[in-house]
Amino acid sequence: NLKVGIVGLPNVGKSTFFNVLTKSSAHAENFPFCTIDPNENKVPVPDSRFDYLVEFHKPASKVPAFLNVTDIAGLVKGAAEGQGLGNAFLSHIKACDSLFHLTRAFDDDDVTHVEGDVNPVRDLEIILDELRLKDIEYIEAVYEKLFKLVDRGGDKKLKPEYDTVCRVRTMLMEEKKQVRFADWDTKEIEVLNKHLLITSKPMIYLVNLSEKDYIRKKNKWLVKIKDWIDTNDPGAMLIPFSGAYELKLADMEPEAKEQFLKDSNATSALDKIIVQGYKALQLMYFFTSGPDECKAWTIQKGSKAPQAAGKIHTDFERGFVMAEVMKFDDFKEEGSETAVKAAGKYHQRGRNYVVEDGDIIFFKFNT
Ligand code: GDP
Repeated sequence: NLKVGIVGLPNVGKSTFFNVLTKSSAHAENFPFCTIDPNENKVPVPDSRFDYLVEFHKPASKVPAFLNVTDIAGLVKGAAEGQGLGNAFLSHIKACDSLFHLTRAFDDDDVTHVEGDVNPVRDLEIILDELRLKDIEYIEAVYEKLFKLVDRGGDKKLKPEYDTVCRVRTMLMEEKKQVRFADWDTKEIEVLNKHLLITSKPMIYLVNLSEKDYIRKKNKWLVKIKDWIDTNDPGAMLIPFSGAYELKLADMEPEAKEQFLKDSNATSALDKIIVQGYKALQLMYFFTSGPDECKAWTIQKGSKAPQAAGKIHTDFERGFVMAEVMKFDDFKEEGSETAVKAAGKYHQRGRNYVVEDGDIIFFKFNT
């Protein structure tokens, strides 16, 4: 069950974002530690291909892909040393596979800023430093243990792991960088995966703007934040949104909403955020579809047909015979499964077939 955690300083709009995202009812309050227990929820991943299949088949049951989202409270300056909620955040972050990092670029005198004023770049650094400090604390313990075992011609088998740990240490302590910043080879990645470092998790930066700035697509911090990300977390994605705007939309009746969207000449950023969050996890999905059920099945990128079949049922993997595959685009273009077959675009694939995103698959198997 892969999941994304929402991190950021108190009062930057995490719970508000979580609530509009999941339409759950936990409420946001103007109080730094109001979200003590991590709220977790499943959010459907929007996909026009899935909508098309549902519209086409009108199935009895429809199951889209889901993204698990957790709201993580308690990160403040000094959290790594026990400030605020102390280390409560740590195990929650460790359990996440990627992170939405929320930062506040809206002014509102009614919403206290824990650091006194609005400065998203400083806030980003505070959070990244806290995460880095926790990784240092963790890796120091690993390092000391390994050092004793490897030192003076000790256990040679442990030397590669030791070397990777040393490299991690240098990065975190001397270069003051997040572990994901460096390029790691396959062997090193194995070591990183074993140790679940929090600064190795992919991060997507979400900048919370005022409704006005979001609509006019302008805010004095955006360029600064972009520059900061390019220097400190190259390749990471920045998505501006507005909690206030999303909240307004979420509470509107469909008609009023349509009018409001037209008037504001903007659209909700939530779909993009969910889709990117899902992609950051290196996930994709294939479809099974028919009059009974349309369903998106989440798999890791690069999965082969039998593993994909195993998602549906272990018997499907064990007794895998073949996968009958249509591309979604062919299905849409030809208009029906029969037409896809007639056009010679319906393919039988064997156990080495690497499933592609959006494949529509029918598995054949022996029991
Ligand atoms: P958290 O502590 O990061 O979870 O922040 P909350 O979501 O609880 O929000 C803290 C306060 O900021 C609440 O009073 C919210 O109503 C307010 N808030 C959240 N998002 C926005 C926003 O986009 N604009 C404005 N003006 N206020 C917001």
